[in-house]
Amino acid sequence: MNQYADVILPVPLDGYFTYAVPQEAQGRVATGIRVIVPFGRSKNYVGVIARLHDDKPQGYEVKPISVVIDTLPILLTGQLDFWQWISSYYMSPIGEVYKAALPAGLKAEEGYKPRTETFIRLTANYQNEPTLHAALNMLARAAKQRDAFIAYLSLSHWDSIEGNVCREPVVEITREELMNASESTLPTINQLVKRGMLETYEVEVGRLNQGGTPHPEHIKPLSHAQQDAYNQILLSFMKKQVTLLHGVTSSGKTEIYIHLIQRELDQHRQVLFLMPEIALTVQMMQRLQRVFGNRLGIYHSKYSDAERVEIWQKQLSQNPYDVILGARSAVFLPFQRLGLVIVDEEHETSYKQQDPMPRYHARSAAIMLGAKTLLGTATPSMESYFNSQTGKYGYVSLTERYQGIQLPEIQVVDTRDLQRRKMMRGPFSPVLLSSVRQALERGEQVILFQNRRGWAPMIECKQCGWVPRCQHCDVSLTLHRNMNQLSCHYCGFTYQVPTECPACGGKDLQGRGYGTEKIEDQIRDIFPEARVARMDLDTTRTRNAYERLITDFSAGRTNLLIGTQMISKGLDFDKVSVVGILDADRMLNQPDFRAFEHAFMMMAQVSGRAGRKGRQGLVILQTKNPELPVIQQVVRNDFEQFSRELLEERQLFHYPPYYRLIYVYLKHSKDDVVNTAGIELGSRLRQWFGDRVLGPDKPAVARVKTLSIRKLVIKLENGIDMPRVRQYLLLAQQQMLQDKRYGSLQIYYDVDPL
Ligand code: ADP
Ligand code: ZN
Ligand code: ZN
Repeated sequence: MNQYADVILPVPLDGYFTYAVPQEAQGRVATGIRVIVPFGRSKNYVGVIARLHDDKPQGYEVKPISVVIDTLPILLTGQLDFWQWISSYYMSPIGEVYKAALPAGLKAEEGYKPRTETFIRLTANYQNEPTLHAALNMLARAAKQRDAFIAYLSLSHWDSIEGNVCREPVVEITREELMNASESTLPTINQLVKRGMLETYEVEVGRLNQGGTPHPEHIKPLSHAQQDAYNQILLSFMKKQVTLLHGVTSSGKTEIYIHLIQRELDQHRQVLFLMPEIALTVQMMQRLQRVFGNRLGIYHSKYSDAERVEIWQKQLSQNPYDVILGARSAVFLPFQRLGLVIVDEEHETSYKQQDPMPRYHARSAAIMLGAKTLLGTATPSMESYFNSQTGKYGYVSLTERYQGIQLPEIQVVDTRDLQRRKMMRGPFSPVLLSSVRQALERGEQVILFQNRRGWAPMIECKQCGWVPRCQHCDVSLTLHRNMNQLSCHYCGFTYQVPTECPACGGKDLQGRGYGTEKIEDQIRDIFPEARVARMDLDTTRTRNAYERLITDFSAGRTNLLIGTQMISKGLDFDKVSVVGILDADRMLNQPDFRAFEHAFMMMAQVSGRAGRKGRQGLVILQTKNPELPVIQQVVRNDFEQFSRELLEERQLFHYPPYYRLIYVYLKHSKDDVVNTAGIELGSRLRQWFGDRVLGPDKPAVARVKTLSIRKLVIKLENGIDMPRVRQYLLLAQQQMLQDKRYGSLQIYYDVDPL
C-alpha cells in the first residue's frame, strides 16, 4: 500500500505533482489510473497516476487525491514511458504530452457524455435566389449578421445558385463551424435565427458509425514486382525494425500494405496505419474499409471527441480494432498487441506537430512504439533515405507503376522568357493553355497546382506602393475576393478591403500575384465550358466539403481541379492527363534549407497524379529557372542524383541528417526585450556549445500575433549526449527567466524542426 501518488497534470510545468492516497482509495490506485486532484487555490484537474511510492515530499503540505475515476488503467504498459520519451526528446513538459495524447473527454472532470451538436441551415423560405436577395437586402444595415449569413451561404455552397434553382445542397455545417469561419458570435447567429433566415437542428454525435461492410472485399493478388517487394520487406523485417519502401507513385504500395496488414491480422496482431492528414485521404480510407470492414477503426481530429473516447476505450477492451487508421495523434492510442506500423507518405511534413507543444514527429514517435515499422513513399525524406543507405533501416524499392503505366512526360516552360516576349496570358503559358484545351476536348481531366490560396497574395497601391499588412503579424495580407476581405494567414485575422489607399488616397489598389481563387476566375473565363472546382483550405473548411470535391472529380462531374498542395495527396484518378505546375519558383525560393527537398517532393507528387491507362500523362512545369539542376532532376524523376547532391550539401553545411538541429524561439510583446534576451541566451549557450550555436536572428516573419520573435539555431553532431544538451538548455532557460527584465518572456524549442 503506497502513501503517495505522482500525478501528471495538464499544466505546462515540468515534472509530476505528488498527492496523498487517502485510506479509502487504497487498493484502487495504480499507474495509468485517472484521478481528480486539487491544484493551486481553487482548481481541480483530471490527472494520470505515473508512479506510486512512500517518499513523503518535503517542504509543502501534500493534498489528498479527491476522486479516483477509473477502475482499470486507461494506459497500457509502456505508454507512460512513451510519453516520457516524447517529453524529454522534444523538450516539452510531460503535462503537454498528456494533453496531446488523450482525447478531451478523458481529461474532463465531468467525464465524457455522448452529446449533440448544433447544425445550422437555411429555412425553407429562403431557399431560392429572389428570397435570398431579399434577405441580403434586409441585412444591409446589419453588417455582422450579413457577414455571417454570407459566410453561411459560401460554406454550405448555397452561393453557387444558378438562376432560380438552388443546386442540391449543400454541405452540412455546424453552428460552431460557422462561428469560427465567419468570426461571428452566438448572438449574431441567434439574430439570424430569430429573423427566420437560418434555423438550427441537433444531431447526436458519438455514434461509432465507422467500419463498413461486414463482408469485406477480397484482397487483390500482387503483381510480380509487388510480390517481390513484399518478400523483400518481410526479409528485411527479420533483420531491421524499420524498412523504407521507396515506390514510385501508383506502383501499388497500398496493395502491398494491404497484404502486410492481412498477414499481421492472420497472426492475431494489430496494425497502426498512419497517414499525414486523414481528412485529405478519403480514398485511402475507403480502400482499407472495403478490405478490412469493421475490423478497421479510424481515429483523427475531425471526428468528434466522443468518437475518439469510444475508440480509446475499445482499444482497451477485449475486442479492440485490429487496424487503426489515423493521423499523427493515433500513435498515442493503446495497442495490446501491435505488430506493425505503416507510415504512409512518410516524407510529409504534416507528420510533425507544430503548435501546440509537444512538437513531435509522428514518424519518429511511431518507431519508438517498438513494432516493426514500414515507411512508404515515392519521395523519401532525406532522413529516412539516409538511414536506409547507411543500413540503419532496410530499403526496398519499386520502380515501375502498376501495369506498366508510364510516368508522365514533364515539359519545362521558361516563363521568364515568355514574359519578356509578352506571351504569358496571366499566369498561363501558351503551351499550358493548349494542353488543357486538348485534354478537355478529349474528355480527359486536368489538375492545376498553385501553392497559394486566396485571390492575390497581396494588394498594392499603384500610386505609392502601399501594401496593407496585418496589425498583429509582420506579414502582408492576402486578398480573398469571394469573401471580399483581406486575411492574415498567420493569425487568421480578417480586414475589410480598403477602397482607397490610406497613405496617398489613391483609388487604384491592385492584387499582386496569383492565388488559387484568381486562377479559378481566369480559368473560368478562358474555358467557360469546363466544369471547374477548387480545392484549398478555404473550400474545405466544412466536414464533407473535401469528400465532395474528390468524389465529384473522380466521378467526372468536374473536370478541371485547381488546388494547393492538398491535391498532391493520396489522389488516384485515372482520367487525369494533364497536370500544370504554375509556379515552381515560389517553392524553390523559400528561405529554408529544406526548400529544395520540399519543392522536389511537391513537384514529383503533383506530377504523379498525371497518367492514365494506355496514354502517357503530361506535366507542364512553369518556372523562371529552367536551368536549375533540381528542375532537371524532377523532369528525369532522378531521385538518386537529387538526393546525392542534396546530401553532400547537407554534410558540407552541417545540416540534417548529418547534424541534428534544435531551434530555440524567444517570444515577447516588446521587440527590444526579445532582442536583448536573444543575445543573452545566445552567449550563455555559446559558453557550453561554442560555435554550434548560431544567431539570434529575426525569422522571416518576425512578429506573429503581436509577439516579436527571435530564433537561435543549435547544430549538434550525431552521437552528442542529447540528455545533457537538454539539461543545459533548460538550465539556461531557468537562469534567463529568473531575470526580472525578462518577465513574460517565452522560450520554447523545436527539436528536429521541419
Ligand atoms: P501507390 O500507393 O504506390 O501510389 P496504388 O496502390 O494506389 O499505388 O496503386 C495504383 C492503382 O493501381 C490503384 O488504382 C490500385 O488499385 C491499382 N493496383 C495496384 N496494384 C494492383 C494489383 N496488384 N491488383 C489490382 N490493382 C492494383
Ligand atoms: Zn497609395
Ligand atoms: Zn496576423
